[in-house]
Amino acid sequence: MALTMLAPVFKVEREEGRCIKCGVCVQQCANEVHQLESGWMWTNDEECVACQRCVSLCPTQALAIKEYPLSFRVNSHWTPATIREIYAQADSGGVLLAGMGNPRSYKSYFDHLLLNASQVTNPSIDPLREPMELNTSLGNKSGPSQSSEKPLISLRLPIMFSAMSFGSVSLNVHKSLSRAANAMGTLWNTGEGGLHPDLFSYKDNAVVQVASGRFGVHPAYLENSAVIEIKIGQGAKPGIGGHLPGAKVSEEVARTRMIPAWSDAISPAPHHDIYSIEDLAQLIESLKVATGYKKPIAVKVAAVHNISAIASGVARAGADILAIDGFRGATGAAPMRIRDHVGIPIEIALAQVDSRLRDEGIRQQVSLVAAGGIRNSADVVKAIALGADAVYIATAALIALGCHLCQMCFTGKCNWGIATTRPDLSRRLNPEVGARRAQNLLQAWEHEIKEIMGAMGINAIDSLRGNRLMLRGIGLGPEELQILGVKAAGEEG
Ligand code: SF4
Ligand code: SF4
Repeated sequence: MALTMLAPVFKVEREEGRCIKCGVCVQQCANEVHQLESGWMWTNDEECVACQRCVSLCPTQALAIKEYPLSFRVNSHWTPATIREIYAQADSGGVLLAGMGNPRSYKSYFDHLLLNASQVTNPSIDPLREPMELNTSLGNKSGPSQSSEKPLISLRLPIMFSAMSFGSVSLNVHKSLSRAANAMGTLWNTGEGGLHPDLFSYKDNAVVQVASGRFGVHPAYLENSAVIEIKIGQGAKPGIGGHLPGAKVSEEVARTRMIPAWSDAISPAPHHDIYSIEDLAQLIESLKVATGYKKPIAVKVAAVHNISAIASGVARAGADILAIDGFRGATGAAPMRIRDHVGIPIEIALAQVDSRLRDEGIRQQVSLVAAGGIRNSADVVKAIALGADAVYIATAALIALGCHLCQMCFTGKCNWGIATTRPDLSRRLNPEVGARRAQNLLQAWEHEIKEIMGAMGINAIDSLRGNRLMLRGIGLGPEELQILGVKAAGEEG
């Protein structure tokens, strides 16, 4: 018998006086933690991932999930999580997998940036009484006039839903986000898993991805889109490919991806036809030719050490939009060591890229989209002041749909109907409810952005783009301030 040292991470606590043995928790937990046998409730704590589904749906609030009380001796170097990871690898001999984004306590630069406000000399603006302009256009804006070969895409607000592939998330997630994007005049993104035919009607709001695996890429896919995005990398796993486990490749996912059902969908680390900027330029041109120069072509890369040089090359290769995904970007599945230790923060990458493209006089050639850990409207405003034209959000959108950040998306057993293709679980997310919640989130952020801009005395988002005078750093060293291109709190000018 294999020896395992793994103890449960979480403990399910049931208040016996409140539990009415209705069995809701038994039905709701895909990890089979709860059992009802001969009138007795018992739990298998080892399988609990703290997704909070049973807690939320228990009609008598009888349940609570706590950290398992097994205490290791206090050790700030060998933390309980580190010890558990070693036990797990000693059990399995395999790579540790993880879902969602990097949870480690690296510095958040967004939390070290403060926003400006108008006082006396430059009056603030009341967004309830005066028009505030959040309209954003993305694409190549260089040259004396817009040529027909430089299509722009117009958004009502500078926030889009980021790439999540069908297969890594349920079809109901795509239905929710596509409807919300349509209602809000913005874009959603298919990710690398193709576009389900049910969603062709949302083509005017769709960014379709062309990734290294070329899943689901065919002429109708390219045509049924507003923007085509070449995915080179993503923040959660820079430099490596993708892997959708066969267990999530249902018949429907397989049809959409054009691969056999129940087989692992592996996207290679590099595109096998891209080994240089010239190769990338060729793919960009091919996609433009294939779609009659009617759609902006985006390139998505992960934020890495030499991101500004990469950005310059991508712009010169003819990309209309450059999406940069910081190291907090999420995923359905990634090797934990890559997710947690590779890449750089989006704030740093963005500031560097915006400065480099301005210095080279090519900033107007390409729109910048910031992704990877945008949590609220203040992060959006800060990203735009650092140089972004727009942002992508994914984790925040999934939280709006019910995600509780248990980070077990790779198991396919998401109890909230999000990171799963199991029909019984997928149907837990009602796309009408999901669309309304995602739309509400965007609406709320839209109001808040207008309020923040009003406080700054700015009535058009264009005046905020790359306007780093609206930012001040707090708790940052001189080098960090210099890289971000912002002054310290208290510095005038
Ligand atoms: S995995 Fe989720 S539903 Fe299952 S017991 Fe734990 S918190 Fe409850
Ligand atoms: S999507 Fe589902 S599995 Fe993934 S973190 Fe959220 S609740 Fe957990």
